Amino acid sequence: MRAIIIGGGIAGLASALALTRRGWRVEVFERAPEFTEVGAGLSLWPNALRALDALGVGEGVRGRAVLEGQAGIRDAAGRWLSRTDTAELERRYGPAAMIHRADLLAVLRAAVPEEALRPGITVSEVRPDGMVAYSGGQSRADLVVGADGLGSVTRQSVWPEAPAPRYAGYTAWRVVTAPVLVGEASESWGRGERFGYIPLPDGRVYCYAAANAPEGAPDSGLTGLHARFGGWHHPIPALLDAADPGAVLHHDLYELPPLATYVRGNVVLAGDAAHAMTPNLGQGACQALEDAVVLGTVMGNGAGLGAYDRQRRPRAQMITRRSRRIGAVAQWASPAAVTVRNTALRLLPSASFARSLAPVLDWAA
Ligand SMILES: Cc1cc2nc3c(=O)[nH]c(=O)nc-3n(C[C@H](O)[C@H](O)[C@H](O)COP(=O)(O)OP(=O)(O)OC[C@H]3O[C@@H](n4cnc5c(N)ncnc54)[C@H](O)[C@@H]3O)c2cc1C
Repeated sequence: MRAIIIGGGIAGLASALALTRRGWRVEVFERAPEFTEVGAGLSLWPNALRALDALGVGEGVRGRAVLEGQAGIRDAAGRWLSRTDTAELERRYGPAAMIHRADLLAVLRAAVPEEALRPGITVSEVRPDGMVAYSGGQSRADLVVGADGLGSVTRQSVWPEAPAPRYAGYTAWRVVTAPVLVGEASESWGRGERFGYIPLPDGRVYCYAAANAPEGAPDSGLTGLHARFGGWHHPIPALLDAADPGAVLHHDLYELPPLATYVRGNVVLAGDAAHAMTPNLGQGACQALEDAVVLGTVMGNGAGLGAYDRQRRPRAQMITRRSRRIGAVAQWASPAAVTVRNTALRLLPSASFARSLAPVLDWAA
């Protein structure tokens, strides 16, 4: 059986790996000239590490990752609002990891047969019968996996009724700094603004920030980040000093409104093409990895694409909703609301955070 996978990001490469392990002949069409990811870090929660184990690459990923989670949430002055009980999290669900995206992509790419990788191919149209039109021709497959991200051409072709992605109301920056000694990872919440940092295995630090802003607002890069966060607690100013202005990534954040199905004919959606979500739970890529594992399983055991839709859609949509709700509270800007929020966070027992994540992290292949 032959599959065409559109998109060679995390969802596409993981799906390619899952299907080849089940004996499928796979081609991954990627519009970029090579299979790679630009900078920035990625949190891989225990559910994602289990998915990577099921794909046979868990150890390879752990070898390039830091096995630790975020220590908690602070205010802009550095006072703890909530401490994460990381021991309890690990006891319940297993360790979490932080990895550079390029490293995760490299591990996945190395596990996919070289002849399956088709860079420099841009897909222009997909039909439910498995026909794929691309730069240079067209091709038909028994299965087409649309893993082509937020602006998915697969979704636009086969799900023409699907609503466009919705702007979350806030914008984000990511940068990996030169090595800085930061101790434990944390995220700090201000008024309509957030800044987080997580050390990477080689001492560099993955930083991310978010701020309320109109969609498409002009960005002033690192200068703007200094203006917003330069007065926040240590080590945030030092991290901004250690960042290369040219390495700052800036993206408005979007969520895909829920689709009624992830499967139409011979076509299936995976990753952000199916369920782009805000990054507040750090689960977008984790869910893409789960998609891949389930896709491999249902195509391998004969359960079929209907089973993929039944297993994946409710779960990914539940996590999308949770992520949106957390983001809404984290981005509160009114001083009164922020005071109430911060007080509530201080009163929350740290074990309750670990418990509340059960529906998200308690996933097994
Ligand atoms: C600020 C931020 C922080 C995040 N942090 C985390 C985190 O900590 N943990 C986590 O799990 N998730 C996180 N995410 C989410 C995560 O980045 C995404 O969910 C994940 O990268 C989606 O992978 P994907 O393969 O589905 O899509 P993409 O990464 O978008 O890949 C799609 C691929 O398809 C290719 N493509 C697109 N169109 C075509 C076409 N027509 N023809 C051929 N190829 C095409 C693209 O070039 C691309 O390579 C974060 C997201 C953001 C914005």
